[in-house]
Formats: sequence, C-alpha cells, structure tokens
Amino acid sequence: MKAEVLSIGTELLLGEILDTNAQYLSRELQNLGFDLYHRVTVGDNVERLTRAFEAALARADLVVSTGGLGPTSDDVTCEALARALGRELVFSEEAWEMVKARLEVRGRSPCDSDRKQALLVSGATFVPNRVGAAPGQVVREGGKTIVLLPGPPREMIPMWEEDVRPLIRRDFPGLRPLFSEDLKLVGIPEALVQETIGDLFQSPDPTVAPYVGLGEVRIRVATRDSDEQRARARIKHVVDTIRSKLGKYIYGSDGDELESVVGELLVRKGLSLAVAESCTGGLVAHRITSVPGASRYFKMGLVAYGPRAKWECLGVRKEDVERDDAVNPEVAISMARGIRAMAAADIGLSTTGFAGPSGGAPGAPVGTIYVGLVWPNGNYVEVQRYPGNRSTVIGLGAQAALALLWRFLARGLEE
Ligand code: AMP
Ligand code: MG
Repeated sequence: MKAEVLSIGTELLLGEILDTNAQYLSRELQNLGFDLYHRVTVGDNVERLTRAFEAALARADLVVSTGGLGPTSDDVTCEALARALGRELVFSEEAWEMVKARLEVRGRSPCDSDRKQALLVSGATFVPNRVGAAPGQVVREGGKTIVLLPGPPREMIPMWEEDVRPLIRRDFPGLRPLFSEDLKLVGIPEALVQETIGDLFQSPDPTVAPYVGLGEVRIRVATRDSDEQRARARIKHVVDTIRSKLGKYIYGSDGDELESVVGELLVRKGLSLAVAESCTGGLVAHRITSVPGASRYFKMGLVAYGPRAKWECLGVRKEDVERDDAVNPEVAISMARGIRAMAAADIGLSTTGFAGPSGGAPGAPVGTIYVGLVWPNGNYVEVQRYPGNRSTVIGLGAQAALALLWRFLARGLEE
C-alpha cells in the first residue's frame, strides 16, 4: 500500500518554516507499513493544490495533507480537494458547533470567516480538533483514503495519534508494520563499521543500514511483519551478530543517550564526577545534567575559559597554560585533576581545544581538542582533530569527552 504526504503552505515552500509535519507523518506512515515514494510541498494556491491532490491520488492509496484548513482566504485545502474529486463543499452544523466551542474556550466569539472551518468536502467525516478550531477531515473515494489535517503541529499530532491513526489501521488491515532496533556506537569510524559488517548491509531482510550522527554511528536493523514477535526474533538474530563483531563500541540502543548510559554506569559503580571545560563551554556539564537524577553522581562543572581561570581555579601550571594557548595534554590533565580535587569527586573530566574559526597554535591547529580524564589511580588524555565549523567542533568535543568517559566506565582504557 502506498501513502503520500502533502504539505500545504507557501511559508513551507519558500523555506520560511521547517516542514516538521512531513517528517513526522512520513515516519509514522512508514512504521504503519506503507510504502512512501513521493512527498510533495505546495503553496497556498487552489489550482496547483487541486492538481497536487489529483497527482497524489493517482499514485497512492492514502493521501495525508497538512495545512490550509484555517479561516483565512489563503486556506484552500478543502476547496482544492473538492475540485479534485468533483464534489461540493457542504456546511456541517455539527462541525460548526465544535468550531464555536473551541473558539469559546479561547475566549473568542466566532466571526463570519470562522464559518469556513465548518465547510466539509461532501461525504467527508470530520475529525474533532481538541487543541485548535479547524477540524480535520477523512474522505474516501474509490478505495482510497484522503486525510486533511491542520498545519500547526500541536494540533496535527494529537489528532493523528488519537483519531486518525486508529482509523487508518482499520481502513488498511493488511499492512505489515515496520519494527526496528537502532544500535549506537562510539569510538569507531564509519569506514571500519563498513569493513566489519559491510556484508550485512546487503541483506534484504532484515535490512541493516548505517547512519552517521555527531561523533557516533547508528546501525538500524529493520523488518516488516504482521506479527511483532516474529519480527523481533528476526531482528535479534541480526543484532546478536552485530554485537558479536562490534560489541565493544556499542554503548546502547534505541532511546539510549551517551549521557544517560554514562549516568547509569556511574550509579552502578558508585562513582562521582566533576567536569572542567574550556572550549566546550559547559556543553559536557549541560548534557550530563539534562539526565534526571544526575545529582546522584554529578558534583560540579566549571567553565575555565580564560588562562587565569585555569591556573587560579584549577591549579594548572602557568607555563602549560601559556604554551599553545593552553591547548595541550598537560593542561587537559591538570584541569581534570584540579576539578576532581576541588569537587572531591572520584573522576575528573576536562576539555581544552580550539573551536575556531580563528585561533590555533603551532602544535594545535583549529579543531584540535584534548580530553583529560583523571581517576583515583590513573589518568588519560586523548587528542582529536575535528573538521567543521565552531558549533560542530564544540559538539564533537563534548561527544568525545562523554565517549571517553563511557569507554573508561564500560571496559577500561587499555585497548
Ligand atoms: P496553516 O493551517 O497551513 O495556515 O498553518 C498554520 C501554521 O501551522 C503555519 O503558519 C505553521 O506555523 C504551522 N505549520 C503548517 N504546516 C506545517 C508543517 N508542515 N510543518 C510544521 N509546521 C507547520
Ligand atoms: Mg497556511
């Protein structure tokens, strides 16, 4: 079964706002088991929109549009679909009662333009909008289903989840939903993943695909089946194979984040952490503290950005701070040691580097980042050179710090 998403709005077409609805719906439809071959964006123009509906209906069994259901004259979705199907628009008293009720909740009395939101394509069922005024519509034509959803995501998503998705499941009973598991890896380049399990990427079912994130690689194992247990068993078989080959790089799966996995490891081992950051400007501490319950293990974060902060607060030797603008391994280690002592923590973690675009030193070009780690009976420093703009380098630096900490906690740093 084929589905197509139609995003309606000139502001989307011109790139003024990001089409998050299309991403959301595409993923939802894929998960339900539809094939997606086209995705269309159209401006608020009734002729072009009519043709877009005609084209989508010629290609797909299910067409889901968002936007253009409001009260203003540029909202023409309903009219365009009526034209495409050769149907009338009819005023629905029932829909009008709901529109009025919604407006009253907002403390607004209905005006003439609002009546437009109670116009339905003849034969359509309307879908209540529990957040905004404009109802959605479901229209059936020759074995096909067309769904009109409102544009604002906070209205569209609840309507989809509560009313439309169950209805589509009923309309298309033979779908084979998609099941998947994402494995998340750090400390391994994409090319090495390819070298190690590249043969699996050819597998037609389950499919195995790599995705590169910021400082991590994700491997998605996916399959379709009407029976979830059968699908999960097939996925597990492939996941076990991947784990046997790349297990030491896998920090988690699906919803796991590096910071939450690190947090769990710290709790399990009864260890506390303190962080001193230069180039990452607090991002490492921010990621750690964004996990609920971080107070169980996180003692302190300090942004020691200027040279004076490094020697005054953290006790880094002045000559180390002055060398290569404080971007060197001795500074990284001393920062981690200093913050560990100040916070009386078990582990000290630090970053120092050049995020760019200007700066850099003879021994450390822009993009160089040192990560320091100090624990009760040892220390370790790692250097990375990252390409990219300032925010990329900062993001990769914070990721490298968390990845190093994860490696230390999960399996030690000897290999
Ligand atoms: P509309 O009902 O088309 O006038 O849309 C109203 C508002 O909803 C727009 O101005 C956007 O802020 C938002 N919106 C509409 N379509 C989308 C979309 N596809 N993705 C994200 N936001 C949207
Ligand atoms: Mg609009």
